Amino acid sequence: MSTSNVRVRIAPSPTGEPHVGTVYIALFNYLFAKKTGGEFILRIEDTDATRSTREYEEKVLEALKWTGLKWSEGPDVGGPYGPYRQSERKDMYQPYAQELLDKGHAFRCFCTPDRLEQMREAQRAAGKPPKYDGLCLHLKAEEVTAKLAAGETSVVRMKIPTEGSCDFTDGVYGEVSIPWDSVDMQVLMKADGMPTYHMANVIDDHLMKITHVARGEEWLASVPKHILLYRYFGWDQPVFMHLSLMRNADKSKLSKRKNPTSISYYSALGYLPEALMNFLGLFFVQIGEGEELLNMDELADKFDPDALSKAGAIFDVQKLDWLNGRWLREKLSQEEFLARIFEWSSENGRLTEGLKLAQSRISRLSELPQLAGFLLSGDVGLTPASFAGLKSKPEEIHEILTTVAADLEKMPDWNIESIEAELRDLAERTGKKLRVVTPPLFVAMSGTSRSLPLFDSMALLGRSVVRQRLKVAIAVVVTMVGSGS
Ligand code: GLU
Repeated sequence: MSTSNVRVRIAPSPTGEPHVGTVYIALFNYLFAKKTGGEFILRIEDTDATRSTREYEEKVLEALKWTGLKWSEGPDVGGPYGPYRQSERKDMYQPYAQELLDKGHAFRCFCTPDRLEQMREAQRAAGKPPKYDGLCLHLKAEEVTAKLAAGETSVVRMKIPTEGSCDFTDGVYGEVSIPWDSVDMQVLMKADGMPTYHMANVIDDHLMKITHVARGEEWLASVPKHILLYRYFGWDQPVFMHLSLMRNADKSKLSKRKNPTSISYYSALGYLPEALMNFLGLFFVQIGEGEELLNMDELADKFDPDALSKAGAIFDVQKLDWLNGRWLREKLSQEEFLARIFEWSSENGRLTEGLKLAQSRISRLSELPQLAGFLLSGDVGLTPASFAGLKSKPEEIHEILTTVAADLEKMPDWNIESIEAELRDLAERTGKKLRVVTPPLFVAMSGTSRSLPLFDSMALLGRSVVRQRLKVAIAVVVTMVGSGS
């Protein structure tokens, strides 16, 4: 039950695997609500129909549930301001677009994708940032009516002031000033009648009575568009807080090329959600040395949104490991520890499915750890010797592993059938036999050439673990290329 009018939200777009960055922002919002006695809400932003999938939405919910964060309103639990999935709110946005058109704050744009591409090309060639040039801004009402009557497709764009700047106070960045001439005449409604992120986000934040918008700094540059929409509608704007992105130790943006970024990777590797939340929560508190081990209540207690740095949160895996170890050793009773092991090993049916797969390849039960252990381990201990027994040369192994690594990013579904289909397709494309493609993968996944059926194993390991194993395998094989081994 809320004791204040504070309402915050996490608004993920289900367009990929749930990312630690999403949980980092979710945790900030959750702690903010907890600290202020407000509500924490989950909204699914799936207006990008080409990239959003239900499968990813389920994964986002699963990942957020695993973290232990609880929302009081959301697509799964309902609430007074639903639906909480934007695709189900589609019809709500149109009247607002019409209102902006009627008030002269927005205009219909009939420019074709081809024309827009030519315009951007010319801008690029002239060294200018791409921005709509305003061609349709001056269409007369009769011209618009005629074009609509003729069935021409159009989008709705917002008008942007031509002079001055948008000045606002960000809860983290402080005073921000962005010149209007750097702001694009954003499309608000797409030709298919769907709103864009900016339109839906502002309308929903208003309708859902969101008081504070805390999100990643990549959205800071969008604030002028959002503020303008609040003004056009005559609505109060929320307080904006843009959190610095998480970074790798070398300060580069956290990306899966350097560190695994999927929540599923960390759960598969046996990190406790409490430890991951503890690790992420330390970015939002001021503590002394020796006070690092904190549960959610303690984090909320010490939470200080005013003390955030713009420097960026460094994703230090060693620190996460250290905290996880401490949680396992110091915070769990023996019973809890055992319960966690069973819970973890049966995640996605890894243990039971793995054991079933082992049945047809076994002569003694004691072979099980060797045969199926790779499904549970974090590191399969690959060395050049692991690949030495293969028929393919290191160059070919390298080619196979890198092609598979690239392919797995493009697969919409991750299951036995899709993996098999993808690898068969890859074999065909590269002119190799499937029995040439699979052995290096067996080794990369399990560390040995004798293991469980490959497609099933990859499905059980999950995409994020497979991605990491391929990365490790490629790094090992690179050292063999050209060395004649
Ligand atoms: N759907 C946006 C995202 O995925 C939300 C940004 C916001 O919180 O406004 O990052």
